[in-house]
Amino acid sequence: MSTDRVVLVTGGNRGIGRAIAERFVSDGYRVAVTARSGEGPEGTLTVRADVTDSASLDAAFTEVEEKLGNVEILVANAGITKDTLMLRMSEDDFDAVVNTNLGGSFRVVKRALKGMIRARFGRVILISSVVGLYGSAGQVNYASSKSALVGFARSLTRELGARGITSNVVAPGFIETDMTAELPEATQAEYRKAIPAGRYGKPEEVAGVTAWLASDDAAYISGAVIPVDGGLGMGH
Ligand code: NDP
Repeated sequence: MSTDRVVLVTGGNRGIGRAIAERFVSDGYRVAVTARSGEGPEGTLTVRADVTDSASLDAAFTEVEEKLGNVEILVANAGITKDTLMLRMSEDDFDAVVNTNLGGSFRVVKRALKGMIRARFGRVILISSVVGLYGSAGQVNYASSKSALVGFARSLTRELGARGITSNVVAPGFIETDMTAELPEATQAEYRKAIPAGRYGKPEEVAGVTAWLASDDAAYISGAVIPVDGGLGMGH
């Protein structure tokens, strides 16, 4: 495994992003995380950035480049939900989720590509969700933002595949984090029943797949959607 590469994970202060950063640290990579608040795990460089703000991302990348080197592995993980049924969903609820989850991925990938193209090496890993392709009542905004990442990764694969850059999507199912803890208990129990594995996943289980996609073993995988969902989406 190449362990001297620099990784940047957005939203690495908690949840799935934090577990991903921890995994890369334990695999020996040089790891930076962006955080709006708090800090990344031990062994990481924390830089301040909001994915809705290109200037803050640019400054964060410059700091990482100066302190750790060129970012060759990018995990676009930062994301939000604003769940409500379609008829109650305001344009602001829609725009905020799409602007963070899809727009944020666009901004951070665009900034990262400069260095990847120069290096003729890159791993772009977008954290989507099973609901992107499965659909979910009350999540028109969120599911739209997450399914769009599939077209994003595949288009990027076609644009940059010949330059040593892979672009893939990880689609977690229900994972134990603050995001799912917010769901009412009855909703959580209902979802649990629908998952063939019979349980929620752990952030570390998403982290393992993400680390594998960044490794040399996954050099010939691009434009793929890798589910980590206990069978909920049956491969989608
Ligand atoms: P959390 O709510 O636990 O963490 C979200 C992270 O995103 C936080 O670090 C948060 O930072 C960051 N973030 C949110 N908005 C912004 C922003 N504008 N700029 C910078 N950072 C931001 O979520 P999870 O860990 O559960 O989710 C991580 C990713 O995985 C998300 O993309 C989510 O959609 C996806 N996912 C999660 C699933 C789950 O079951 N948990 C299932 C499928 C996908 P801060 O602490 O500052 O708010």
